[in-house]
Amino acid sequence: MATPKYRYLRGYTIDPGFSTRLDTMGVNESVYKIKWEELFPGPIGEYVEVIDFDPANDCFYEPVDLDAKEILAENGLSPSEGNAKFHQQFVYAVIMQTIENFEKALGRKIIWRSNLQWKDGRPDTAAEYVQKLRVYPHALMDANAFYAPDKVALLFGYFQAANRILGSNFPGGAVFTCLSPDIVAHETTHAILDSIFPRYLENTNPDVPAFHEAFADIVALLQRFSNAKLLEHQIEQTRGRLDEYNVMGELATQFGQALETGRGALRSAIGSIDKKSGKWKKNEPNPARYQHCYEAHDRGAILVATIFDAFMRLYNFRTQDLLRIATQGSGILPQGSIHPDLVKRLSAEAADIASHLLWICIRALDYCPPFDITFGTYLRALITADSDICPEDNNGYRIALIEAFRAWGIFPEKVNTLSVYSLRWSPPDLNAAEKKALKLMAGHIKEDVRKIGRMTDRAGIALEYKKVQAKLQRVLVNPAVNAAAEWRREGLNQQDWKNFLKKIGVVTDVKSFTIRHGKERTEFTVNPKLEVHSVRPAFRTGRGDEIIEQVIISLSQSHRIKSGEFKGAKFRGGCTIVLSIKNDLLEVDYIILKRFDSDQRLAAQISYQFGAASLQAMPVSGYDEPGNTHAVNFQQLHLH
Ligand SMILES: [Zn+2]
Repeated sequence: MATPKYRYLRGYTIDPGFSTRLDTMGVNESVYKIKWEELFPGPIGEYVEVIDFDPANDCFYEPVDLDAKEILAENGLSPSEGNAKFHQQFVYAVIMQTIENFEKALGRKIIWRSNLQWKDGRPDTAAEYVQKLRVYPHALMDANAFYAPDKVALLFGYFQAANRILGSNFPGGAVFTCLSPDIVAHETTHAILDSIFPRYLENTNPDVPAFHEAFADIVALLQRFSNAKLLEHQIEQTRGRLDEYNVMGELATQFGQALETGRGALRSAIGSIDKKSGKWKKNEPNPARYQHCYEAHDRGAILVATIFDAFMRLYNFRTQDLLRIATQGSGILPQGSIHPDLVKRLSAEAADIASHLLWICIRALDYCPPFDITFGTYLRALITADSDICPEDNNGYRIALIEAFRAWGIFPEKVNTLSVYSLRWSPPDLNAAEKKALKLMAGHIKEDVRKIGRMTDRAGIALEYKKVQAKLQRVLVNPAVNAAAEWRREGLNQQDWKNFLKKIGVVTDVKSFTIRHGKERTEFTVNPKLEVHSVRPAFRTGRGDEIIEQVIISLSQSHRIKSGEFKGAKFRGGCTIVLSIKNDLLEVDYIILKRFDSDQRLAAQISYQFGAASLQAMPVSGYDEPGNTHAVNFQQLHLH
């Protein structure tokens, strides 16, 4: 018998609270279409292992067997708050949907964070490979859910709703965070982002923890638009005005309403209840917020609102013609319901825009530096990612993004004008010898990366990643005995090689730093080692259906200050290199640099980590080397 292609699983569209509201009960159930894979009771599959241990009640709930005939035949168990097996099925469905979106956009398999250690400047290949993300649907009795990087696990809490009537919660009833698709998608995104950029847990500027939060919300939000039934329903209700109050832009509504502090949705990208008037008010772009807001969720909300703003600009732009057709040219709709055909067309546009934006947002990760991300850098990555897949911006995505970022006051550093031309990363300026050196470096790994790109077994891929990382490490910093001969063959000498390393931001000599902070002055010299963080392939289809084959390399050097006032601070420099394979030749498209030899960068980081701003911005550590407080901690971040 042929293996089925998909598994269909029923679940909530928003969260269980919406099933008890007359206006949304009809659209709050949908069927998740998940790629078929063999499953064991749990469910336990290739990527995920659901473990339903409930420490508060000290018990295990019996794991669901999604392959059981009666469950298969019914598209999974029916949504129910009271059935632990349904909870297990639901977290599985949402996590798999999220993983699929990432793999499609990135053009490679997701490999969870491994506890990769470095030994003597080399990756320790014996480090443990983590095959499955562990998922605990009832991990704690608390109004919290979080990703635990050290365990490579998602922990979902449950709690009693506050004892009063608000929204659709039953006063004192149980609220399960694992039943909110937003929360599940959000936590899964943390885990995936961490698997790509483990250094984004290093809190080096206020945008870093905010980015983790924002990105997780952006994915949750845009994924929701793939639900046609809900989208059509909301477009019908708002008469096509998605910038008016509707549920599309609200995240974790039931959770927000159940809290003691009582409010509407936990977060909203479109608007919120105005504290003074008690009425819902649309979010207006406010550039001052980015300047003054440091708490990770609040700051993250600015980026979420910016992306949603870009979405609205695109939606309004692309539906103008439909509205004109529907209104004999006036563009002003008459009173009453809008025509079902118009609802369908508007929804199709909205879904298309959301899915493309999601694609760009994910893909932009490959154009980001491996640490110390800022929102401005992310805008440049978005523009570059979209330019690469679609050289001509016929649909206005890049312009809409730029307009939205401008409106919200987010500007990248070192860019004079906000134009596509100046925002797009530029190809590196390499001389002939440096180009040869780069070719030589890339030549060593090209075939390995291509091989990895064709592999499907994730454990095998993870092992190959480590090997190719170690190989590149040797090529770059510890040239083998025959390197000199190799250089000669290419007409290069050691100085050329050094110059090349400098161009990719690698410091090869001792470097002295002086930090001034108030009256304090700290001086130190370092001779940093180089780490090859990752070498990964990306096979993607452009909008014109052409295959784009790329190799993404990220490198870093670091130094930890061991004494004095700034003890514990870890400073990094490095880059992401984007290479593309065209006609079997490797070309370097972009080098995204974070310079190690930049006193200015170091000073900015120190003043953030040790200055006044850090007090409100920094959730204090936990898992990452206790005592060193410059790490993001999700468990604390998620307490509200
Ligand atoms: Zn989060």
